Amino acid sequence: MIKLQGIKKTYRIGDIEVKALKGVDVDIDSGEFVAIMGPSGSGKSTLLHLMGLLDIPDEGQYILAGMNTANMPGEKLAAIRNEVLGFVFQMFNLLSRISARDNAALPLVYASKASKNKSSAPEELLSKVGLSDRAAHMPNELSGGQQQRVALARALIRNPRVILADEPTGNLDSASSAEIMKILSDLNKTGITIVMVTHEDEIAAYAGRKITLKDGLIVSDVKKSGEVKKLNAEMPLPELKFHKLLTLGRVRNYFYQAVRALLSNKSRSFLSALGVLIGVASVITMLALGTGARKDVEKNLASLGSNLLTVRPGHRRGGIASESAPTRFDEADVKVIRKIKGVKNVTGIVSGRAQIVYGSKNWNTRITGVEPPYEAMQESYADAGRFFTAAETLARPKIAILGKTVVKNLFGDENPIGKKVKINRVSFTVVGTLPSKGATGWRDKDDEILIPLNTAMYRLLGKQYVDYIDVQGETAEGLSALQNELKRVLIRLHSLPEDKEDAIDIRNMAEIQEAMTATMKTFSWLLGSIAFISMLVGGIGIMNIMLVSVTERTREIGLRKAIGANDKDILFQFVIESIVICLTGGVMGILFGFSVSMVLAHFAGWSMSVSLFSILLAFFFSAATGLAFGIWPAHKAAALNPIEALRYE
Ligand code: ADP
Repeated sequence: MIKLQGIKKTYRIGDIEVKALKGVDVDIDSGEFVAIMGPSGSGKSTLLHLMGLLDIPDEGQYILAGMNTANMPGEKLAAIRNEVLGFVFQMFNLLSRISARDNAALPLVYASKASKNKSSAPEELLSKVGLSDRAAHMPNELSGGQQQRVALARALIRNPRVILADEPTGNLDSASSAEIMKILSDLNKTGITIVMVTHEDEIAAYAGRKITLKDGLIVSDVKKSGEVKKLNAEMPLPELKFHKLLTLGRVRNYFYQAVRALLSNKSRSFLSALGVLIGVASVITMLALGTGARKDVEKNLASLGSNLLTVRPGHRRGGIASESAPTRFDEADVKVIRKIKGVKNVTGIVSGRAQIVYGSKNWNTRITGVEPPYEAMQESYADAGRFFTAAETLARPKIAILGKTVVKNLFGDENPIGKKVKINRVSFTVVGTLPSKGATGWRDKDDEILIPLNTAMYRLLGKQYVDYIDVQGETAEGLSALQNELKRVLIRLHSLPEDKEDAIDIRNMAEIQEAMTATMKTFSWLLGSIAFISMLVGGIGIMNIMLVSVTERTREIGLRKAIGANDKDILFQFVIESIVICLTGGVMGILFGFSVSMVLAHFAGWSMSVSLFSILLAFFFSAATGLAFGIWPAHKAAALNPIEALRYE
């Protein structure tokens, strides 16, 4: 069954070489019960680990059940550990978070589908070791002897040919030891080969053969006469099947384990997911804000009059005020522009803020002085009362048209038409109200009062010039030609030298739209980088916690490898765990971001719009973060040496 020839194993710690095995030959037949003895440090465990395929010899040959194990790929070794071997350890190595039954069933996770039917039922095995009433108990609710019996059930679940036991009674009192040894003896009688490391003669007495090691060499090998049974020595082994890497069942199992691991450490899991939570929440909120703002801008642009050009003094150049004071425009300019061919409507515009009072009510709002063409240009037809007339403009009448927000704040449900209000202590008569234009981004377009341009300039704001001039072209096609013509005329009119031509700033609404689109793009990039940074920070947090988790669970990893997990199984288990943490954070972040958006929309009145796209994006990114930042810790876990992992304290 087990054939070792000329096995040598040397450990190196720095420059020091420890020759643990110096050339061991052993031949163990099927059905034997062998005790390996010897002083501490003689190489017993090393030999057992080599037999268990947890380690590879430096020299020599190992033939297990007729298979030469040299140069076998890791997956195949793992499959042999799962199907042919069963391990029992001194420290039991049960997983503390799962029940006795689940511990016993653990090797089934790594069983190939084709070979599953050769497994026993965990319940059946637990009753065989006398624990049928303890199946649902957690390991810490069991005595040492009971835990070792669970470990025996785990070793037996795949109906192994060989059980390898490393000091199985080392941590047990004598009564429990006797029970365990009784079970092992009974198993041996059914034909299972048992190799057991022990340093106690009493325990070794159960075995039919005693091999003694000293300084890495076999110094004696004694068989009890007549004890060796060649039960099923020549029985061929079933063909080994590699388990498929990711079956649905295995993913479900990893997922289930990941959730268990998270729940067993709730506050830590929450804190580690917090980075991702905050990142996702801020992304959702900001995307909602961005989408809302963009919708507003689009609506706003659509509501602006068509074919509009805005003429305003250019910006100061280089900041030297005296030399490059901006050009001012006044009514003379408006008059000249009105005569240019291709111009449909023109209005000079001034604006400022003012306090408006009606009765005991008081409101601070934007005052805009406009000329009558404004009505048609901005489609601001008064929805109650009337607009100004051309005749009124010259007389500087004290009349006003109120936006909806102003009406609501000063008049409530009262009809404002014909009422007198005080604007900066000057009495005005309300002649009309404006149609509702809605909020655009941060600015409420209904929070406005229109008054005649001349009244605004000379009676209220004390300005001798207009702030800007809105020009409406006849056609959209002629707009850029008109723009050039306006510039040419105004440069001549103001006798500006050629190099001062940027003293006049003429904007086309289409250009503004382009500028806004560009701003939106910048905004999106900004959001993207915020998302990236917060995910990076969140991801580093996750990576950190995963590294801690790998360290904490080193023994578990060693055990899983011993019972048949290969490197990729371990890798996937930890990657899935990391993805689960990130997704948990991501889902909480989506909910949180959604609530924040709703609250902002409700109380601050901002336009917010949470899109399905942003939710999917957040979901995808949290999963991707889990994957990206989980891989390294998972890789570290997968690369652990099973023996060192099992020894880890
Ligand atoms: P035993 O089980 O008989 O006590 P071991 O097989 O554990 O002996 O160890 C044999 C020798 O190899 C000892 O000197 C031990 O210190 C050394 N050894 C075992 N494992 C390692 C290791 N991973 N690294 C370095 N030396 C080791």
